[in-house]
Amino acid sequence: MSVAKPDIREISIEALEEFFIQHNAPKFRAIQVQEWLWKHRKINFNEMSNLSKADRNLLSEHFTINSLKILKKEISVDGTIKFLFFVDENRFIEGVIIPQLNRLTACISSQVGCSLSCTFCATGKLKLYKNLTSGEIYDQVFLLNDYALKHFNKPISNIVYMGMGEPFLNIKNVLKSIDLITSPNGLGMSGKRITVSTVGITKIIKKIADINPNFNLAISLHSANDIKRSEIMEINKTNNLIQLAEALLYFYKKTKIKPTYEYVLLGGINDSIDDAKALVDFCKKIPSKVNLIEYNKIKDGLYEKSSTEATNLFIRFLEKHNILVKLRRSRGEDIAAACGQLAIQNK
Ligand code: SAH
Repeated sequence: MSVAKPDIREISIEALEEFFIQHNAPKFRAIQVQEWLWKHRKINFNEMSNLSKADRNLLSEHFTINSLKILKKEISVDGTIKFLFFVDENRFIEGVIIPQLNRLTACISSQVGCSLSCTFCATGKLKLYKNLTSGEIYDQVFLLNDYALKHFNKPISNIVYMGMGEPFLNIKNVLKSIDLITSPNGLGMSGKRITVSTVGITKIIKKIADINPNFNLAISLHSANDIKRSEIMEINKTNNLIQLAEALLYFYKKTKIKPTYEYVLLGGINDSIDDAKALVDFCKKIPSKVNLIEYNKIKDGLYEKSSTEATNLFIRFLEKHNILVKLRRSRGEDIAAACGQLAIQNK
């Protein structure tokens, strides 16, 4: 029986150095290989042209290089582009490029499917198939950046972990992917332009605070009322608003990073003035800002988006109470690329 070769992209630099030493090759080969793997994203040992043929053969005898491939893309009337990535025979994920006036944002996935089941989210209707590796998360950014350079003549400016999956339930690989994206030996992008979005797993929020994160934090709040939040987001039953506020306060005190609260306006569910009051109270606990998100209708969805009138009243109430608030209009709806619509429908 043949044993599957390990993925070289999952091997630490120290282990790779050790590998070369054991095979009577200089240890600095490991750094050369890392550069090929990340900076140039070569997915074939034969392309590593400063290694000898013998070294290239040695590597391909012992390792494979796993990578994502773009399978297809769709372009929305508003310019948003959705990409379907091939992970393996049975698994696919989606990523999106959102062109705006001064930004080119890449929205990427952290898991195939999701173990959570937020009632308004299309990915939440799937089960969790797999955590993406750090390389697979990195690949999405690299490939979208490559596309941006070719088609927009500029690189991706912002990265949001707001595609499929819950980043905080795959935190090790997510953190490693951010290291690769920000490293000069990877894409060298600024962590200030990276935002990780989470349902708010309090234990991980505190853990991240302790490691001095170099990225922004967005919390999917969607209600500042515990009963309502538990109805739409099951995670609230084990990570409630008091625990969330406590973890975020700890996070803010340690990092001075202001979290952004994401709040999808669901018609008749969380868009009343009472809901806005609860949100204002929650916002006063920690320096923060609010992104209101238009609800994108999903297949077999239970909800409608908020009326224009309710939305405007909600925004005005927040502004009157000095909350920093922005309304995020839906993008890419016609190709099911909008927030929460990513669900592998296009196999
Ligand atoms: N699991 C993470 C990241 C993925 S979701 C999280 O929950 O934060 C990214 C954002 O899209 C979240 O704020 C999520 O609540 C929102 N979202 C999900 N479904 C949506 C929908 N149908 N319409 C609008 N926003 C949605």
